[in-house]
Amino acid sequence: MKRIVILGAAESGVGAAALAKKEGFDVFVTDMGKIKPHYKEMLDARSIPWEEGQHTEALILNADEIIKSPGIPETAPMVQKVHAANIPIISEIEFAGRYTHSKMICITGSNGKTTTTSLIYHIFKKAGYDVGLAGNIGNSLALQVAEEPHEYYVIELSSFQLDNMYDFRANIAVLLNITPDHLDRYHNSMQEYTDAKMRIIQNQTKDDAFVFWNDDPVITQELNKYHIESRMCPFSILQKHGMIGYIADGEYIIERPTPFNMEQEELSLTGKHNMYNSLAAGITADLSGISNDVIRESLSDFQGVEHRLEFVCTVHGVTFINDSKATNVDACWYALESMTQPTILILGGLDKGNDYTAIRDLVKQKCKALVYLGVDNHKLHDFFDPLGLPVAETHSMKECVDACYRLSQPGDTVLLSPCCASFDLFKNMEDRGEQFKDLARSL
Ligand code: ADP
Repeated sequence: MKRIVILGAAESGVGAAALAKKEGFDVFVTDMGKIKPHYKEMLDARSIPWEEGQHTEALILNADEIIKSPGIPETAPMVQKVHAANIPIISEIEFAGRYTHSKMICITGSNGKTTTTSLIYHIFKKAGYDVGLAGNIGNSLALQVAEEPHEYYVIELSSFQLDNMYDFRANIAVLLNITPDHLDRYHNSMQEYTDAKMRIIQNQTKDDAFVFWNDDPVITQELNKYHIESRMCPFSILQKHGMIGYIADGEYIIERPTPFNMEQEELSLTGKHNMYNSLAAGITADLSGISNDVIRESLSDFQGVEHRLEFVCTVHGVTFINDSKATNVDACWYALESMTQPTILILGGLDKGNDYTAIRDLVKQKCKALVYLGVDNHKLHDFFDPLGLPVAETHSMKECVDACYRLSQPGDTVLLSPCCASFDLFKNMEDRGEQFKDLARSL
């Protein structure tokens, strides 16, 4: 019997274990950390052996294949040992792809994945399609394939997931953008990170489609390097020529396969970045045969996703917006770009090697004050203090929201779009966003 060992027992690992067990493999799950009780129960219910707090080499290095959680870096000692033993490592998505013939709609990009994936799912649901949500959101693909199969899957793929994908084929691949992120996991090489993202099109055939943002210079330059067999579906907000979808003169247009148009202002998601996300989603739905009426209705009633440019409340004329998910500079750029009122911007947290130059001009143009929120704010002081805006130094969300309120007056917006990860002061970005919302609402 072939042995499959799974490194990492969270959503993807436990899902992969369930599928491997169902397919008759000898399965073992191992996690260096603590496994959540819910996942332990799932493993026990399926009689799958597991260990936590350690990796027992003898039980791992006898595997025929390893499925690695995307959260575990290549540099982890156990991963290195697995490589040294020449055992193939794949991702959960790669594994699940072997056991289904369902249609795979895969979304990647540096920013906008969750929003676009959720929007596509929303449209497919509204159209009455049998569809599952998978990847970074929803239940793992493997678990659904094993126990709750669907005809379509809408899958959010990070570069880490793409890293260990080889034979998997996306029927529709959506590539939103490529900007610097997670470079620490790619030897600080933008090219390595870009190569990971481009894996979204590997194995595509002429029966598949590739939907991509044509205004992104990194993507267009990469395209020259590939022989792409799938149907190319570029979208743009800068040009119409050769585009499948575009926005021009306030109109949202899809040219093919079924011509579609609606007023741009009817789109429920606002901000320039969401024009791209809405185009990618609309084109994907159109390619999948969903009617114009359903696409129009879905694009205009989608509620957005929490922590992404989310309206929180207005207190004494001051608007609070939660964009806690903006953990890199590009995401903050789009948030600032969409601001229409004088803005008090909250920046800070764990910086993944940020270069703030890209937002300096927008900060000058849109911001009336800056509030730094982090354990160590010195890099923010060094970069932004010379702009001469009022700044506040804070180390908790309470201090931060109080400072924002003090610096604001009616007609202003307070924007949490911090460019950084949250782990210095918060459990995660959701915790940061929740604390911000609770404190703003109780002002
Ligand atoms: P991801 O899943 O790729 O992290 P999200 O949809 O969660 O993307 O959004 C992450 C952040 O990026 C949010 O701050 C959001 O407002 C911003 N964002 C969303 N779509 C885009 C886009 N197409 N380009 C740039 N930034 C975006």
